[in-house]
Amino acid sequence: MERYFDGLTSDSVDISYANVRLAEDAEYDPALDPKGRLFSFLSRKERGERVSGAWRTSPLEFVTTQQLNSEELHVHLMDYIDRCGNISRLVKIGKSVQGRPIEALEISNTVKKGVQDGKPHVKLVAGIHGDETAGRIVSLGMAEWICENYKSDPRARDIVDKTHLWILPDMNPDGYTLRTRYNANGRDLNRDFPDQFKDNGINSKLDGRQPETQTIMKWTMEYPFVSSLAFHGGDLVVSYPLDGTPDGRSYYMRSADDASFIHLARE
Ligand SMILES: [Zn+2]
Repeated sequence: MERYFDGLTSDSVDISYANVRLAEDAEYDPALDPKGRLFSFLSRKERGERVSGAWRTSPLEFVTTQQLNSEELHVHLMDYIDRCGNISRLVKIGKSVQGRPIEALEISNTVKKGVQDGKPHVKLVAGIHGDETAGRIVSLGMAEWICENYKSDPRARDIVDKTHLWILPDMNPDGYTLRTRYNANGRDLNRDFPDQFKDNGINSKLDGRQPETQTIMKWTMEYPFVSSLAFHGGDLVVSYPLDGTPDGRSYYMRSADDASFIHLARE
C-alpha cells in the first residue's frame, strides 16, 4: 500500500499513477467516481472487496460500512468537497505528533473563509480516543446525509442554512492508526485539556499540551462556537461540562447550563 501514498500531503494527492491503474481495470466504472480519487489508493482486489459494492449504492452507505484509514479519510474528505463544495469546505486545523493532518469539514450555505455572519458555529469531534471508532462513522455519515438531503429535507436545510456545522472525524489520527486510546506520545487527549479546578483553570495556556489538544484549543478560540459534541465509545452515557469537582471526588456537579444540557442529551 505504501507506494500509493508517496507524495501524499494534506493538500494534494498524486492520483496520476492511480489513474493509469484504473484505466487498466475493465471492471471500474469511472462514471461512479469522476475524479478517480476514491479508488486511487486501493488495489483492484481491495476495491472489489471493500469499496465498490458500497460506493455503487451511495456515499452515505460507503462511509457507514467502511473503516477508512487516515489516508483514505483524507481522500474521502477531498472527494466530499468535490461533491458538496457548494455547502462545505475542508480545513486543516493542525497535525498530530506523527505529522498526520487533523482536518475538519465546515458545512454551511455561507461557508467562506473568515466569514463570521452571526450564525452559530457548532462542532462535532470524533476520535479523541483512537480505539473508539463509532464517532468517525457517525460524523462522516451525518456529513453525507446533509449533502444528500440538503435540497429535500427541512432538517438538513435548517442545519446548513442556520448554522456553521463543523465535523472533525478524527482528532487523534495516530491513535487510530496505532489502534490505541492514546496519542503517539502515550497521552490520553481527553485528560489533556484545561480543567476548571486545576492549574489556572479553563483559561490556562497551550504550553505543555499535546499537539492534538493544542489544535482543538486554537480552533475553538478561532471561531464563535456555541456548542460542541465529542464522540466516545464503549458505553451509553452523556457527560457534559464542566463535569469535574473541586475535591476530585465523584458526585453530580451541576453546571450553570444544567437544564440545557439535559435537554440536548435527551433530544
Ligand atoms: Zn473515549
